[in-house]
Amino acid sequence: MKFTKKQIDRYSRQIILKKIGVIGQKKLLRSSVLIVGAGGLGSPIAIYLAASGIGNIGIVDKDKVEISNLSRQIIFTTNDIKKNKSSAAISKLRKINPTIKLKSFNKNLTVQNINQVAKNFDLIVDGSDNFRTRFLINDYCIKNQKILVSGAISKFDGQVYTFNFSKKKSPCLRCFIPRIPANPDIDNCEYEGILGTLGGIIGSIQANEVIKEIVGTGDTLCGYILIIDALKLTFRKVKLNKRSDCYCNEN
Ligand SMILES: [Zn+2]
Repeated sequence: MKFTKKQIDRYSRQIILKKIGVIGQKKLLRSSVLIVGAGGLGSPIAIYLAASGIGNIGIVDKDKVEISNLSRQIIFTTNDIKKNKSSAAISKLRKINPTIKLKSFNKNLTVQNINQVAKNFDLIVDGSDNFRTRFLINDYCIKNQKILVSGAISKFDGQVYTFNFSKKKSPCLRCFIPRIPANPDIDNCEYEGILGTLGGIIGSIQANEVIKEIVGTGDTLCGYILIIDALKLTFRKVKLNKRSDCYCNEN
């Protein structure tokens, strides 16, 4: 793969970084990332990953844009209200970076369709808002030894997890949350509220984790949870141990 002049110009500020370079940028362009959820997390994740030159990006979401989304879902504008989120997000990304492959999936991820939707993607970024989807993605990534970068936000708090299931010792989401909590489909944002900027903080860290995992540079969060309190502005990195009786040990 040879860079065109336009590609060198577009990605020059990353290529110049010694820890990325031409080789790292080529890895990004050859990579494929599926973003689950085009919401508060999915918005900054998608924007940064498209801008940084991930060569193939998919976005899964079945919702339509509502006015109450606009305080945090920064990929959308007022003109997008009532449009399908996945396709509105993809058309925005096409304007940011027309040189990469983009695909929208206007559906909810289910046990029945996850293999079909996710098969062409090496890495999955979870920006979903419910536990059913989180656990579904977790289990799929374990079975298929894919990398999962997961994020969660509520009120003023956020968490980031990176799981690299090609490594045998990686813990999983179930090691931390063994059982799906009651009311797994509850939309926390609607009931508990959310500060818009938190999606930007957590989503940007998720995008940063994706880039490091693909390029193979720096230390990723694999094996840890990052817990952020945006009110007190504290960042805590907590070791996450693999549970011996967890699903991730049996698959
Ligand atoms: Zn586990």
